[in-house]
Amino acid sequence: MGEFELIRRYFASAACAAGGEAVALGIGDDCALLAPPAGEQLAISTDTLVAGVHFPAVCDPFLLGQRALAVSASDLAAMGASSVAFTLALTLPDADPAWLEGFARGLNQKAQECALALIGGDTTRGPLSMTVTVFGTVPAGLALTRSGARPGELLCVGGVLGEAGGALPLVLGERQADAAVAEPLLARYWSPQPQLALGQALRGKASAALDVSDGLLADCSHIARASSVALVIEAERLPASAPLEALLGAQRALQLKLGAGDDYVLAFTLPPEHLPELSSNWPQLHVVGRVEAGSGVRVLDAKGVDITPRQGGYLHFMESP
Ligand code: ADP
Ligand code: MG
Repeated sequence: MGEFELIRRYFASAACAAGGEAVALGIGDDCALLAPPAGEQLAISTDTLVAGVHFPAVCDPFLLGQRALAVSASDLAAMGASSVAFTLALTLPDADPAWLEGFARGLNQKAQECALALIGGDTTRGPLSMTVTVFGTVPAGLALTRSGARPGELLCVGGVLGEAGGALPLVLGERQADAAVAEPLLARYWSPQPQLALGQALRGKASAALDVSDGLLADCSHIARASSVALVIEAERLPASAPLEALLGAQRALQLKLGAGDDYVLAFTLPPEHLPELSSNWPQLHVVGRVEAGSGVRVLDAKGVDITPRQGGYLHFMESP
């Protein structure tokens, strides 16, 4: 199978390649053409996933296709953007039809869930990796950046954290668990749900936002730095996860909620007056702390004792439980 046949069979003919409102020209020419609505800015983000680094070299290609798209689409959610389109640069060791069929099916399914049109890409031979670039639009001036947090605001998350990190030993085959525990965790790792609608609902309300990809502590430190404020996380307010706590116990679950990446849940700061309306529409939203004057990120327990781990971020928590 030649390069053009491969592109045609698996990607150009996928349902998600049929275009959309803001797609003036899709796959097949030297460039795709986008026509963003007047008054909107284009939001663009790229993510690369490398086999053996960002996912196990041997894994289900359908799940990988879903995940590759979801991790990029989540950046649009974090910016408050509406989804428009994506490109796919795919490097493959060989053209394995079974692999390509599964991968394209997973990619297409997630693309349709996220309303993202495939508008182009590149296909090359080499060690397995994939780069997805997503394009979205947001009304000028309303994008959710990291730099607007102010003392007195609330720190919120859009859902449960730590579950994708809890799934990692299961993904890597280092550990087994009953289906009731393993399935919800594995779903969180392989099929993150980009919070696009929540991101859009936060336009004009949240003062800073991002999606948690490296761990809540590490990602909050990005907001703290960009906004020149301190963030305080109240550990007991982090949403509970029955499967995570059943698999690893409360203490380790807390470490993962603070330090593990890959959840792709939104974290944002919010002036308190916006909380009642938002939390009635978004029951999965949790207030987990507050913004203070100062710098850095602190974690407090229920008694207010500082329990900040010495090193934040995902590296610290890579050791097996
Ligand atoms: P060029 O020679 O201009 O780089 P290519 O031969 O790489 O073009 O690609 C031909 C067309 O197919 C282009 O429109 C490109 O965007 C698209 N394309 C290539 N690879 C992919 C892919 N993996 N998924 C979707 N579209 C692709
Ligand atoms: Mg090319």
